[in-house]
Amino acid sequence: MLTTLLRSSVPSATTSIPVLIAGGGPVGLFQAYLLTKLGVSVRIVERELAISPLSKALSIHPRTLEIFNFCGIIDEFSARGKVLKESNIYFGNRRVATMPVLSLRKTHYSRALFLEQAKTSGLFVQELSKLGVEVERGWELLDAKVVEDSNDKSRTYVESILRKPISGSRADRPAILGEVELLEEDSDCEYEIQTVRSDYLIAADGGRSTVRHKLNIPFPGITRNNKTFIWDGTFESDISMLGVSNITGTNKKNMRCIPLSDGLYRVAIDAGVFEAGEDMEGILKDLTVEKFEKLASDCIAPSRFKIKETAWLTCFKVNERRAEHFNHKNRIFLAGDAAHIQSPSGGQGLNIGLQDAHNLAWKIALVLNKVAPESVLGTYDEREAIADRAIALSSKLFTESREEGTIAFMKRRAYYLIVPSVLKFLIHIGFAPENSRALLEVKYKKNTLNRDSATSSVHSSAFEVGIRAPDGLVRTVPGAQEKAKELRLHDITTGIGRFHILVFVSDMLASSSTTVIPGISTTNLKELEHNIDDFVPRWRGKWSYASPISDGHSDNDIFKVNVIAAKLGPYVTSSAFINRSVGNGKIFIDDSKSVHSSYNFSCTNGHGGIVVVRPDSQVSFRVEGTGERAWKAADHYFASILSAVSS
Ligand SMILES: Cc1cc2nc3c(=O)[nH]c(=O)nc-3n(C[C@H](O)[C@H](O)[C@H](O)COP(=O)(O)OP(=O)(O)OC[C@H]3O[C@@H](n4cnc5c(N)ncnc54)[C@H](O)[C@@H]3O)c2cc1C
Repeated sequence: MLTTLLRSSVPSATTSIPVLIAGGGPVGLFQAYLLTKLGVSVRIVERELAISPLSKALSIHPRTLEIFNFCGIIDEFSARGKVLKESNIYFGNRRVATMPVLSLRKTHYSRALFLEQAKTSGLFVQELSKLGVEVERGWELLDAKVVEDSNDKSRTYVESILRKPISGSRADRPAILGEVELLEEDSDCEYEIQTVRSDYLIAADGGRSTVRHKLNIPFPGITRNNKTFIWDGTFESDISMLGVSNITGTNKKNMRCIPLSDGLYRVAIDAGVFEAGEDMEGILKDLTVEKFEKLASDCIAPSRFKIKETAWLTCFKVNERRAEHFNHKNRIFLAGDAAHIQSPSGGQGLNIGLQDAHNLAWKIALVLNKVAPESVLGTYDEREAIADRAIALSSKLFTESREEGTIAFMKRRAYYLIVPSVLKFLIHIGFAPENSRALLEVKYKKNTLNRDSATSSVHSSAFEVGIRAPDGLVRTVPGAQEKAKELRLHDITTGIGRFHILVFVSDMLASSSTTVIPGISTTNLKELEHNIDDFVPRWRGKWSYASPISDGHSDNDIFKVNVIAAKLGPYVTSSAFINRSVGNGKIFIDDSKSVHSSYNFSCTNGHGGIVVVRPDSQVSFRVEGTGERAWKAADHYFASILSAVSS
């Protein structure tokens, strides 16, 4: 293939960059944003000349919103998106129930935000631009491989070949969603060719990933035989369909209607399965606005669905696939749809893609800053199990939602007409909302990063590392002039490049004794301060970012230490203590003890403990106790994950 390309191309130039990102979809854009904030130079290349106005994804789930909060971009998203609080159930044109979209507890962002993918991508482009990074449009990655450095055989780098048309035009590609085959060579353009050397390549080039194909990474899974029609536009009807509406059609087909912005709606209709001899190209050729209008009208008959304007009409088929591995030789990483692709049911794809980027960015930044060994990149494989889980969930939701025909129709009818409202509501509470919850309950396997302390006595079933760091309310220590301020733990553990060390103590007295009085816990503040003051400068001296990173903190520290006290003794509330900081953090009070309890620390045994939260806000280490032994365990933990380049 390369020979053909070079025949019709201007000579190749070679450039170098620490990180090359292939694909300017939402995942590539977010990856570029995170790395840039972490001080890493990136190039992001995108084959298309503009963001597609046609949005696949609509929902951004609470965990992703939490991540946007850590990155400092939540306000931009909240201002554009909308939270839908109700969903309607229709039989034909008759509304039989309106159910609340239940909110998740334990997170500040309790419901999903609806925002079209084009707007999500647009916001990332805008934020990237503020950081001085522009997407290089028109550039297509053709090939990539890991090569040995000829000057230093122990080193490798990535060599990628890019091309950009300089004359002629590329053929239009069919708009088939869910295709996973590589696009064929399709034009007689003349191209400019570039060879790019990079330390790392991130393949965020979508479901048909060129990188995945070129590296021969298998993409096993299934392609479903179902057809789903999608239409975006404006319509008139005598039924309102405000909010999300799920309609069991009079014609026994399922239809969903979701409000978009600017007065537009998305309507998706399950259109059965591919018949023998039917293929996607043929379906798309036959699919007209009139045909869709009739199908939608048949669903809500005897009401009519009258289309006013159409922004998009297409058909898609579902693939459920996961790349065999996401990490190629610790140099090339697959992220987003390039790594996993699934049914849109439950809205997982974009969300887990963005979370891939969030998992990877800080690891790359640490390695490029020479503060962590390359082996830390191997832990990116923890995303594979998360993809499997998301695929399984969306597969289940897809199967449930595609139940159509007379029996499914009767079952639903019986449920909505016969079961009393109170019981229905209770059942509803028990089930919802699985898709948002699943993303909040991401739990990484044990690996070099996620470890319990060998000295910890906590039983693994009581608290497991690898989980999302629980949030909760704490307050600041009141000052002479100022009142205590309430804030969320996630606002303390904010940022995207630091480990957060949380020191949980039950009570802090000024006494020089560390005696534990039965029933009353005491932690000696001076001893605690001594341990923290010993810990912070020691590690700061060894491991800091080379230059400040832009993640919401003003220093170069790789970790922050904060103390969460369940109760403060008299010394601490005295004026001597006011505004006092400990190490490089502060003391916060957990009056309700609920934060202690989320991290499984008892407030009565006087021990507390130390928890390490990774830069992506997952708990990676936990040890009981706050004395010398516990700090040694924390020392040992950091030494083992950051050790290779410590001296
Ligand atoms: C109908 C539908 C509804 C969906 N709804 C939801 C939802 O509500 N919530 C959710 O979380 N997910 C949803 N998804 C899934 C979601 O759209 C995808 O997971 C998401 O688009 C993945 O983003 P990405 O950046 O990985 O890939 P893409 O969005 O596919 O972006 C890849 C980019 O790479 C570019 N590219 C490809 N090859 C190259 C190359 N060789 N060189 C340079 N550039 C290249 C492409 O032009 C493209 O811009 C839905 C999907 C569908 C089909």
